[in-house]
Order: sequence, then C-alpha cells, then structure tokens
Amino acid sequence: LSQAPVLKAYKNYVGTWEKKIGSFLEFDPNRNVGKELPEGPLKGIPFAVKDNIAVKNFKLTCGSKMLEQLVSPYTATAVENLQKAGAVVVGKTNLDEFGMGSSTDNSALGKTNNPWDLERVAGGSSGGSAAAVAAGLVPFALGSDTGGSIRQPASFCGVYGLKPTYGVVSRYGLTAYASSLEVIGVLARNTEITKKVFESMKGQDPMDHTSLDHNPSGKSVKTIGVLKNTHGALSPEVSASYEATIKRLEKAGYKLLEIDLPTLDYVVPAYYTIATAEASANLARYNGIRYGHAPLFAENPTELMKKSRHEGFGDEVKLRILLGTYVLRSGFQDQYYVRAQKIRTAIRQDVERWYSKADVLMMPVFPTPAFRHGSTDMDPFQQKQADLYTCTANLVGHPALSVPSTLENGLPVGVQFMAPPFEEDRLFQVSALLE
Ligand code: GLN
Repeated sequence: LSQAPVLKAYKNYVGTWEKKIGSFLEFDPNRNVGKELPEGPLKGIPFAVKDNIAVKNFKLTCGSKMLEQLVSPYTATAVENLQKAGAVVVGKTNLDEFGMGSSTDNSALGKTNNPWDLERVAGGSSGGSAAAVAAGLVPFALGSDTGGSIRQPASFCGVYGLKPTYGVVSRYGLTAYASSLEVIGVLARNTEITKKVFESMKGQDPMDHTSLDHNPSGKSVKTIGVLKNTHGALSPEVSASYEATIKRLEKAGYKLLEIDLPTLDYVVPAYYTIATAEASANLARYNGIRYGHAPLFAENPTELMKKSRHEGFGDEVKLRILLGTYVLRSGFQDQYYVRAQKIRTAIRQDVERWYSKADVLMMPVFPTPAFRHGSTDMDPFQQKQADLYTCTANLVGHPALSVPSTLENGLPVGVQFMAPPFEEDRLFQVSALLE
C-alpha cells in the first residue's frame, strides 16, 4: 500500500491552512519515521509538539532567537512514550518565547493566528499547538502548562486541553521555565483522544526525579463544586457560556454545589513571584558559551555573555529575568519569595477543603474569549491579571481540563474542571458528558 498520495494530500491540506494560521515552526511528517511503526494504541496517528519539548533531529527553539539554531540531540520521555505507542511527530509548533505569555505574540520566530478569526490570537503559550488541532492539521498536539499555557489556548481555539497532575508526566526534555509549576500535557479534538494520549504518555521516569506513578482512586463523579463568586469580572460571552454549562451539568444529573475560593485574589501575585524567580535561575544557563546565540564579535567573555543575552532574549523574557532576580535578591526574600510560598500553601488549603464535598471543581478558564493581536483588547499586564483561574491548578499541582463549552459571537469559549491529584479520570467523565 503506497502512502505517497496520502502524504501529499496531507501536506497540501496543512500548507493551505498554514499560510493563514502559522501554527508550525517546523513541519516534516517524514522525519524520524522508520519502516515499521510500533503496534500500539496510537499507531499511525500524527501529532505536533510544542517547540520547547525535545524531539531528536527536530529543532528546539523555544520560540527564541537564543536557540534559533539548536537541533535537539535527544527526545523527551513523554514524546518517546507516544512514539512507542505508534504515534508520529509531524512538526514543532509556535509558542511564546520560553512559554512566557498568553498570546503566542511573544514568539521571536513567527506569528500564529486563531483559526476561528485570523485577527485574533490563538492564546498562549501553546498557541501553535492549539491552532494546529483546531484547524484539523493534527488530531492532537503536546503543550506545556506552567500557568495555563495549555488550557487558555485550548479555550480560545475550541479544543480540549489537559494539564495533568504535577509529576505524572515526565518533564525530561521539557525546556525549564518554572520547574515547580509546569507539566507536559495534551491539546486534542475530543475527550477520547485526550485520555488515550495521557494514558500513553504518563508514568514515572528515572530521568525526572519529581516524576510519579499514576495512582487514581477510580471514583466516579457525582458532585461538582461550582465557583460562583469569580473574584473578577467575566466578559458577557464567558458569563453566558459559563451559565449555559451549569444548566447542562444540572440536566445531566450532577449535584452542583456552590463554592468560593477567597485566595483567588492572591493567585496571580504568588504565581508571578514564584514563576519569575524560578525562570531567572533556569534561564541563567543561556550565555552563548556552551550553547545559545553567540554574537559575531566580543572583546571578552563578559561582553560575549552580555551581547548573547541582549540579542538573544526578547523583552518579555528580559522583564521576567529581572523580576525574578529582584524577588530573590539577598535580604528581600522574606518580603517576596518566601511570602509567595506561604500564600501557595494557603491556596492549596483553600482548594483542598472542597474535595470532601465535591468530586471536581468548576471555574472559568479565562475572563474573555480570544483577544485581538497587539494590545488593543488586552495589554500584557491585563493578560497576566487574567491568569487567576488557570494558575491555581499549577500552584497546587492538581490536574485540570479545559473543555469547549459554547460558541459566542463566532468565538469558542471553554470551561475548566479541576480534580484532586491523580484524578484525571474524573475530568474525562465530566468532559465526555458535555461533548
Ligand atoms: N500566561 C502564563 C505566563 O505567561 C502562562 C505560562 C505557561 O503556562 N507557560 O506565565
């Protein structure tokens, strides 16, 4: 059976969409494909990988000039697990530089548009993965979620977006941004694929000492805790969509319980303190010497490092390194970093107290649908303030799933469900019912 005509048709289809949406930084469905694909639950299924996750022989740019030339010599464990299940990497997708952003506009290497409205962003930072799945270029794609980077673009593009329990998917091969918050997850076109991919990808890995075996309870969902006081205004579209989802869940026979999370007011400051602190340490390795952008000319090693970082990093990355260095500087840690860690504990307690009464919690993903490119709808500061619903799950390490809910004025809006650690299956149960 010749695959050539199928492959040609596929490439043509992708090419037509790519001109409009720009989801890939690199696309090559032939690379790394051996003669025989392994037998497995994902045999022959193509998928895309966010370009901050390593795939051997593909680039690993992280959307940054700093790593524009880097070709990865190895493959991330999560990707390797999927390849063992028979799936095939077709390319690497665009992202906000090093995962820092909510629009993919912070990529130094390309622009990604939302397939539903090309004037709008696909969300971020996994915007390329979300756009590729939404346009039907791949049935699923991998992303990383440090503070919402899978769930928010999933909501903007009308696809499913899973942030697994922290540690359940190996981070080996994921370029570090904020190590204590992030995890590799799935963007997919339905619940079934999301679940299958998660099942194939997870598991403890000797290459990542924070990784854990998955250990679920098998409990089924009866009660859903619904966040009513959202501690921040929702746009009319998101409000309408949220209310519609509540009605559907009631109709489906779930018991709904009203919950409140007073600590939501502190989620964004705690998240940006911890994330920038960790980023400033993680990004110190890019200095143009061992690898990373090397300037054409430098008088001495100090100048070489300065030039490498000045030319290699974009503004948002520089801002975060500076912020992180500021909150960690000696004598001031108690005021910022240590305080943020205490708040993180308070947030965990605030969330966990509801699990004795509800099996999953429901909240919005983001206060608005996809916004327009540039700062016309939302400036970078407002974008950060809007991360309160997604960052909660990262600060506490729990799994969360963004599920497409309704279309409002032609734009998709998602809704978010969160569960106790290892209880991804509860999220899939609710998600399948809403399909
Ligand atoms: N908006 C968040 C940030 O900019 C999302 C980050 C992420 O999950 N990678 O930090």
